Amino acid sequence: MSDRSEETSRGPADGPPARLVIVSNRVPAPNPRGAIGAGGLAVALEAALKAHGGVWFGWSGESRPAIDAEALRQQKVGPITFATTDLTKRDVEDYYLGYSNQALWPVCHYRLDLARFDDRETQAYFRVNEFFARKLANLVEPDDVVWVHDYHMMPLGAALRSRGIGNRIGFFLHIPWPPHEVASALPGYSRLLRSMSAYDLIGFQTERDAEHFGRCLVEEGFAVNVGDGWFESGERRFRIAAFPIGIDTDAIRIAAAKSVGQAATRRMLASLHDKRLVIGVDRLDYSKGLRERIRSFVTYLAEHPDARGHVTYLQVTPKSRSEVPEYRRIEQEVATQVGEANGACGDFDWTPIRYLNQNIPHATLTGLYRMADVGLVTPLRDGMNLVAKEYVASQDETDPGVLVLSRYAGAACELDAALLVNPYDAVGTAAAIARALDMSLGERRERWRSMMDVLERHTVNDWWRGFVDTLQALPGDSDSGEQVGATG
Ligand code: UDP
Repeated sequence: MSDRSEETSRGPADGPPARLVIVSNRVPAPNPRGAIGAGGLAVALEAALKAHGGVWFGWSGESRPAIDAEALRQQKVGPITFATTDLTKRDVEDYYLGYSNQALWPVCHYRLDLARFDDRETQAYFRVNEFFARKLANLVEPDDVVWVHDYHMMPLGAALRSRGIGNRIGFFLHIPWPPHEVASALPGYSRLLRSMSAYDLIGFQTERDAEHFGRCLVEEGFAVNVGDGWFESGERRFRIAAFPIGIDTDAIRIAAAKSVGQAATRRMLASLHDKRLVIGVDRLDYSKGLRERIRSFVTYLAEHPDARGHVTYLQVTPKSRSEVPEYRRIEQEVATQVGEANGACGDFDWTPIRYLNQNIPHATLTGLYRMADVGLVTPLRDGMNLVAKEYVASQDETDPGVLVLSRYAGAACELDAALLVNPYDAVGTAAAIARALDMSLGERRERWRSMMDVLERHTVNDWWRGFVDTLQALPGDSDSGEQVGATG
């Protein structure tokens, strides 16, 4: 696979930056001041659109029993047009909750045991992507660069091509891509893979994911690997590369330093009564390894009786996708497990695990990260895991905490100065917690500096620029021949 540094060195094509069309399943609502409220990725993509001008297209998040198939909501804020469509309730159930979240999500996270195989949902996935393409095709101008995001939208590029869109079209997958042996169990696998050669550039979080995907194409006979990240499918040539997503490192560092004086942070600090703090922050999702992590912390307490009463583990876990049965099941299991652990290990004046089932504002989180001696980030599988990066960026450089990180998070490829663990191994993870809490200041600073260097070199702005510049520098479909349809 080709490497990002090589890709970005090519720079943009001649001339001014092309207008950008960003496509994602959900489109954030612009607030009245013209900026997007939420943090992280949405802010970065908004910055990309501000720099290039263009369109942000996707689902409004609204669903109704029936919708007007031609309706498209458009709101222009400065150089950005936010264009959204509603979906029918049935399509949300089949395309979004069904195929996207109960077939693609589990399979991409290596969980064949949790995948649901339902032909109606598979058909709905392709049908809704055709529906999106029909609406989007009218908004795309000849020189636009189109950037499609994430697993809900994989066949969109092919659906656009079959409508005659010859523009440069790129796709970025935010979640992992598994090896062929796992991926090939996906319903509609061949159709999905074949549709992907419609893109000019396909980006992944890690080299590992990019390699897996390239091998899937080759194994299924849909493309030939011609080297350096280039693939050929019939007359078409396209590139596959890793573009690891970053964070807004400076903004997080500043927010963390500021939050120390704020009420929420002070309250948390006062409540600790000088206990050491271990923090975990994850959406409630089976990929995050919450049950394994709690087991590891309980193992740590069992093996280090001297830590009892002196270490608190704060787990912040907002609920997600509660409409999907597996998410409701894990919600109950984790709550029960926390209750049992606190009942068995706690004391009159000490609750070992503080468990919050709420979404905590990002600025407050940075303060909590900063006061935590250990960031415990142990997903069973994760595309990147931004929490790992945010934890590092939030630390006080004179006295930084230690990141304990799953080797199965994409972030582990870059943050190899963390204590890397196998999240399934409770004894090994417990030993890493103990090691983190005992680590000398010198070693903590050395590890932190090495990780912070990575985060300062590759921010989220470098990420989108790297992808868009690479895409813009590639020949468009109209320059390179045959078009690829979504059907087949
Ligand atoms: N987050 C937040 N409040 C919370 C929990 C999480 O703002 O209560 C943020 C967190 O800081 C991070 C993002 O949500 O920016 C989660 O990203 P990550 O890549 O770690 O996991 P994902 O949820 O995308 O799988």
